[in-house]
Amino acid sequence: MIWRIAAAVIALALVYAAGESAWRALTRHAAPVPASSPSAPAVALNPSPLNPSPPNQTPLPASAAPAPCPSAPAFAAAARQNAASLETAVWSVFGRPETGWEIYEPLVAHEIGVVCAAQADGFAQALAIWQNAHGLPLTGVMDAPTLKALNLVWLRRRPFVAASGHGVCPPPPAPDHLAWAARDEGYSGKPIQLRPAALAAYRALVAAARAEVPAAAADRRLLTVFSGYRDPVSDAANCARDGNCGTTAKANCSAHRTGLAMDVYLGAAPGYPPESSADPNRLYQSRSAAYRWLAANAERFGFAGYPFEPWHWEWTGEAP
Ligand SMILES: [Zn+2]
Repeated sequence: MIWRIAAAVIALALVYAAGESAWRALTRHAAPVPASSPSAPAVALNPSPLNPSPPNQTPLPASAAPAPCPSAPAFAAAARQNAASLETAVWSVFGRPETGWEIYEPLVAHEIGVVCAAQADGFAQALAIWQNAHGLPLTGVMDAPTLKALNLVWLRRRPFVAASGHGVCPPPPAPDHLAWAARDEGYSGKPIQLRPAALAAYRALVAAARAEVPAAAADRRLLTVFSGYRDPVSDAANCARDGNCGTTAKANCSAHRTGLAMDVYLGAAPGYPPESSADPNRLYQSRSAAYRWLAANAERFGFAGYPFEPWHWEWTGEAP
């Protein structure tokens, strides 16, 4: 009890010291997440309001932009621990062993509401505030329970995960509820189908990215779609043939059956295909300007990402 009171007092002091940006970080994600929650999709997820964005391609106001990285010398020690663990922590938060958490750094920074490198004391302070708001020990140090809690928040943003987590695999849309993307919207001209509203949202997102990210404007391949709607029957047959079905969920119920999911090209590490989930490829992509922009801005356009695959995004404006 004493510890909880002390933590609350410290949190309030932090909020006061850090000002409006910290208050926004604290209040933006007020729903507590039990630290002991298992990582989904097996976990029961709340199917109620999952979509933080309006069901169209209208971006939210720019006021959602995070504040600059604050100075927080009281969290210098936590920042040093984060700097060390960024490339060395050994854990298995996303279902397979991983080393470090740099791949997730852009999403974490966006989630805790700061524009800070993970090594910054301002990052640690914002993480501490987020931890306190989610029922976790207020340390400012990234650890497995914190990353699991973050992942649960990210999973809850994906209506498809909520639906399939309840054992309901969404049926694919009728053929006349799918639209063809333009030839230059598919990676290397690949034909791509999506639901019409998802395609419109994708176009708004790409236009904004090209306006705001010089690399995305310079390389028109970036953010083109290499996989959109996939027919469930042929999808299952293809992955069985190629031996890359991965989890049972992917083989039996891929998000791509909804016409709302898309894999966008973010480049690839030398020697890897764009969709390789090998750690060097995911790290390469997570460091790209295009991905860092997506991590901070895709939500404005109604998209939720699958953190383990930087290229995979789902439009949340329609039920799957
Ligand atoms: Zn995908």
